[in-house]
Amino acid sequence: LVELEHVDKHFGNLHVLKDINLRVKKGEVLVIVGPSGSGKSTMCRTINRLETIDSGVIRIDGQTLPQEGKELAQLRAEVGMVFQSFNLFANKTILDNVTLAPIKVRGMDKTQAEREAMDLLSRVGVASQASKMPSQLSGGQQQRVAIARALAMHPKVMLFDEPTSALDPEMVNEVLDVMVELAREGMTMLCVTHEMGFARKAADRIVFMADGQILEQDTPEGFFEHPKTERAQDFLSKIL
Ligand code: ATP
Ligand code: MG
Repeated sequence: LVELEHVDKHFGNLHVLKDINLRVKKGEVLVIVGPSGSGKSTMCRTINRLETIDSGVIRIDGQTLPQEGKELAQLRAEVGMVFQSFNLFANKTILDNVTLAPIKVRGMDKTQAEREAMDLLSRVGVASQASKMPSQLSGGQQQRVAIARALAMHPKVMLFDEPTSALDPEMVNEVLDVMVELAREGMTMLCVTHEMGFARKAADRIVFMADGQILEQDTPEGFFEHPKTERAQDFLSKIL
């Protein structure tokens, strides 16, 4: 469903992505781990073209990501993204945050968009907050709204970039639970996270990045019990 072939990217002299090759099947859940600065966020951002690439190909559902234009907007709508900071529109209600893109980009009518939004908000457990403003919600609630907002576009794949690292510890699990549920329902997901409990529970595959390269790809058991490279062994010894 998502394919990266020979993807390279530089920021000036810095070679941030080095010949990245990655294939994600429909329904697969990947957890991407690696030291700070290894290129995890950059790789995620290339998948919906928040970052351009220097060379290589990225395909979503068989279609090559174009550099720009209307097709790019359409393909980008297939990719939901949730960031570390919740990025909700501060001056809009929770309900409006979720319905805005489906109405504007998908041309959905308001009644249907609101019905779907309420379903999604119940799924993530914040339906009772629908008429509030983002600032009235806890961080964990806001992040669950951000997930509902991404899902409202019916994405084919969801990208999560450290969705729980800005949260107070007691709110981490309420967000991870939503992600585990989504994984169980068969959503295709790429998740950058330091939550190894989540990785063990939900991941089909762990991707280990260092210095802009994918050094290992393995099942959670394989990666955590038998990391092959010294870099991965060293990384795991610091976080486990
Ligand atoms: P972290 O775990 O800290 O989030 P990461 O693995 O997500 O790290 P990236 O954010 O992808 O790493 O960054 C990879 C490298 O690219 C880093 O050295 C970073 O400083 C650099 N970088 C990221 N974004 C930019 C940018 N817009 N301009 C220049 N350099 C950048
Ligand atoms: Mg990052």
